[in-house]
Amino acid sequence: MIKIRVFHTGSVCVSPALPFGGDNVNPLKLSPLMTRKKDRLWLPVSSYLIEHPKGNILFDCGWHRDMSPEGEFDKQAQIQSLGSRLLYMVNQGKVEKGQTIDEQLLKIGIKPSDLDYVLLSHLDCDHVNGASLVKEAKHMLVSNDELAGSRKKSCKNKIRFQSKWWSDCHLEGFDWNDTEGPFGKAFDLFGDGSVKMIAIPGHSDGLCALKIKNEEGRYVLLFSDGGYADKSWKEMISSGVCNDKEAQKKSLAWIREQSMHEKCVESIANHDADVIPHNICF
Ligand SMILES: [Zn+2]
Repeated sequence: MIKIRVFHTGSVCVSPALPFGGDNVNPLKLSPLMTRKKDRLWLPVSSYLIEHPKGNILFDCGWHRDMSPEGEFDKQAQIQSLGSRLLYMVNQGKVEKGQTIDEQLLKIGIKPSDLDYVLLSHLDCDHVNGASLVKEAKHMLVSNDELAGSRKKSCKNKIRFQSKWWSDCHLEGFDWNDTEGPFGKAFDLFGDGSVKMIAIPGHSDGLCALKIKNEEGRYVLLFSDGGYADKSWKEMISSGVCNDKEAQKKSLAWIREQSMHEKCVESIANHDADVIPHNICF
């Protein structure tokens, strides 16, 4: 049996254009600070623990405690943690006391050193800002496509990806070793098809969904920021943060097909406001 625990490791405040902007997004509208307060969205920031017969796997890390040292909204702490005022303009975050990933794992008796793998869907702040909280994990992996994408020299990248979030972690890149997914690029962690990182680029160059499959072929799909909610794939609404719109739509179409498949137990977006923390056993 495989057990997946869905955690909320704080929340992120965004303009509606960011998760559900679709095709034509005015970059200025991406900032919640340019949006009326009542229209801003507070979305959960998720991490997942997969208790698999072959090891404990954490998928994404959420916010670091230093975003909210006192468990409350703290503007200066966020600018410091995010590494720039501009990134703070794009998204603000908050993590209550007891909600960071290491704090929640400790509550169920798991230390960072008990994690066999930390898999990162991509390198955006709300997924890796907390990576150093679990740096004692045996392995921390991200796709080489994402690493390469984050190192491309551009003004946007300079703000978007701050290597200080993972600089004290031993972050390893992986190459594709499997052909599943919309682009025929996947990484089969154990070589048995049970845990695969599947390339769903668009939102970022090396974004991955995690597909966890049991012996009967039933699976859970954690599609990270490939969409921001069920309605993203149901209504084919792409997000406003995007490196490649065509790739993003192709990835979303694959998420839709996977989510509607009869073998799909659950498919979950990282920031879906309708998803509450729960456990999945299958
Ligand atoms: Zn995200």
